[in-house]
Amino acid sequence: MNDESVKHGRLRVNEIFHSLQGEADAVGFPTVFVRLTGCPLRCQYCDTEYAFHAGEWRELAAILDEVRPFGARHVCVTGGEPLAQPNTLKLLTRLCDEGFEVSLETSGALDISAVDTRVSRVVDVKTPGSEEEPRNRIENFQFLTPRDQLKFVICSREDYDWSKEYMRAHRLEGRCQILFSPSYTQVPPTSLADWILADRLHVRFQLQLHKILWGDVPGK
Ligand code: SF4
Repeated sequence: MNDESVKHGRLRVNEIFHSLQGEADAVGFPTVFVRLTGCPLRCQYCDTEYAFHAGEWRELAAILDEVRPFGARHVCVTGGEPLAQPNTLKLLTRLCDEGFEVSLETSGALDISAVDTRVSRVVDVKTPGSEEEPRNRIENFQFLTPRDQLKFVICSREDYDWSKEYMRAHRLEGRCQILFSPSYTQVPPTSLADWILADRLHVRFQLQLHKILWGDVPGK
């Protein structure tokens, strides 16, 4: 990102598309996704590697012009890692100002404190199985509210046990919703569901709805 792009309120956009929200609190709602380019992490299960580099620079106004015609009430700003681009904060506020229900999907590695408080923040907790666990930004937890969600993508039984202990050690329960998802193709969904029930764990199990409907394809 160069200084000119920041000054002129531009963002590098990988894709803008209309689909059903596949995860988190707004699951199932028709949603416009604004996928921004770039991510400083390299999770082993990443399904959006195509967003690491490819994308076009767009003015904020042009992004809004592209979002409105879909007529959706929900907009999800995702990536890559959206917060890697400073102008994402401005985009989130502009979307809220226009009356959209706005969510942000973020890796948990970058500071979320400056995100507009009207935004529902979906913050990853990177497990050891992601191979990016040291990137978790623990300082973010103090900013979480009940409208936010922490998402653990579980890659194995060891990851599940680690996640349980991590929740306890950082007193995450009650701070916001806690989501547990099986890593696509790595953990059978029924195994994760059984573990949660056996442990009487107060978390919300979720599957990625868009992958059930359309498979692992971009733009859905
Ligand atoms: S944080 Fe998200 S976009 Fe970045 S590498 Fe991990 S899964 Fe992929």
